[in-house]
Amino acid sequence: MIKLKNISVRYGKNQILSNINLEVKEGENLIIMGPNGSGKTTLLKSMMGLIHFEGEIEIDGRNIRSFSRSEIARYISYVPQIFTTPFSFTVKEFVSMGLYRKKRDYWDEENDIEEALKITNIYDLKDKYINKISGGELQKCLIARALVQDSEFISMDEPMSHLDVKAVLEISSIIASLSSKGKGIIIVSHDVNIIKNLNGNILLLKNGNISFLGKEDNPDFVRSLETVFEVKVHKNNDIYYFTKL
Ligand code: ADP
Repeated sequence: MIKLKNISVRYGKNQILSNINLEVKEGENLIIMGPNGSGKTTLLKSMMGLIHFEGEIEIDGRNIRSFSRSEIARYISYVPQIFTTPFSFTVKEFVSMGLYRKKRDYWDEENDIEEALKITNIYDLKDKYINKISGGELQKCLIARALVQDSEFISMDEPMSHLDVKAVLEISSIIASLSSKGKGIIIVSHDVNIIKNLNGNILLLKNGNISFLGKEDNPDFVRSLETVFEVKVHKNNDIYYFTKL
């Protein structure tokens, strides 16, 4: 379990996160939403101990400050928001980089890489260069690399942004299938409809504070969504959509 106790983050004089308390158990999902600049990426980075924070973060009861980087990486992998590289690795070489952080006692390299390539539907691309594939394909490579890392949780920062609708649907269903196999997904998303495919707690952030933390069926959810995004929320055939207030 990952547990955040009174987490606050400041950049210079700017308070970015204030007293965040939450926990995510193994195999559970957390969907983080909020307007631009509300602190979502900052929250994700602090959960991985990547930035300085006040308060305490515990992983399985142990203070994250006592973890080495590779110990954290065994617990939580990271699919970043924007990824570019000037280097021309093949897809397979790139995905295999996730092995670097893997639990050493379970190494079965070739099988793990092939499985990750298949789960993310990029097996046929394995010999292509990653700087010559589409944005959606690259996103699948990042997920495959995280899978190879074999961590308890995969965290993802807006993995569907900048993708066309077909790629969005494909990536959503890959993420949902990982979750159904028991992988805990911690995801920053702008698409509220992701909660249809990914059960879990929803965290709504506004100005670095938690406005809502709970399940979709909580009666406060829609009201909080409206307050946080300053829109009117509608639901039709199980799909959320928004209009101006
Ligand atoms: P979100 O992911 O919700 O869009 P972020 O966590 O990226 O928000 O950013 C929250 C706020 O922190 C924004 O105002 C942003 O400009 C600021 N911020 C983010 N990273 C830094 C940084 N490295 N230095 C200074 N300010 C930052």
